[in-house]
Amino acid sequence: MLKRPPHILVTAGPTIEPIDPVRYLTNRSSGKMGYALALAARKAGCRVTLVTGPTVLKAPAGCRVVRVKTAAEMREAVFKELPQVNIVIKAAAVADYRPAQMAPRKLKKSATKLTLKLVKNPDILKELGRKKRPGQILLGFAAETHDVLHHGRKKLVEKNLDWIAINDVLKKGAGFEGDENAVTLVGKNGVVMRFVKQKKSLLARKLVRVILGR
Ligand code: C5P
Repeated sequence: MLKRPPHILVTAGPTIEPIDPVRYLTNRSSGKMGYALALAARKAGCRVTLVTGPTVLKAPAGCRVVRVKTAAEMREAVFKELPQVNIVIKAAAVADYRPAQMAPRKLKKSATKLTLKLVKNPDILKELGRKKRPGQILLGFAAETHDVLHHGRKKLVEKNLDWIAINDVLKKGAGFEGDENAVTLVGKNGVVMRFVKQKKSLLARKLVRVILGR
């Protein structure tokens, strides 16, 4: 019998957490790395589901796209897909906090000070790490500004990941909005691979190859 191609779930983009009907909190993220990973996985012959926060990017060809806005919606979409997937790549920049309540009407700017009460969002990746089935592979991303390898390795262990791709966000020209990125990939077996600054599309192909063990 022919083996079915692996099914990869990729999350990408930011989440947005509404303050009132016209304002929200978010993270810096264009979604480009996640979309490039989805496309690379598709081109490598995988079935791909892309769960994406709001971005301006065009849907990658051949991928099933699920659009979400908040971290809560992303969590729901991810866990709905989880039973069917072999690999999860969590490239989304999930907002760590959300306003405790969304004001039903636009907040007026009459007061000189405004205090927002925030509550913690669920850590989707950490929950994935707790719930993953034997054989399911989890790749997380970490954006770090200092002691990059140390913080990345800590996340790998704390979130029970198989791989972590660490972005040094202070490195010139790499990360967030651009078309290029440089990452250090660390595996749970201790392997460390450094990928110098390069096009996100090329980097995505290389990362997918490693994760698929090719
Ligand atoms: O802990 P930190 O936010 O740096 O970890 C980043 C990784 O965790 C990314 O893969 C991101 O998608 C994921 N994450 C998540 N849910 C959160 C915060 C981060 O899935 N609430």
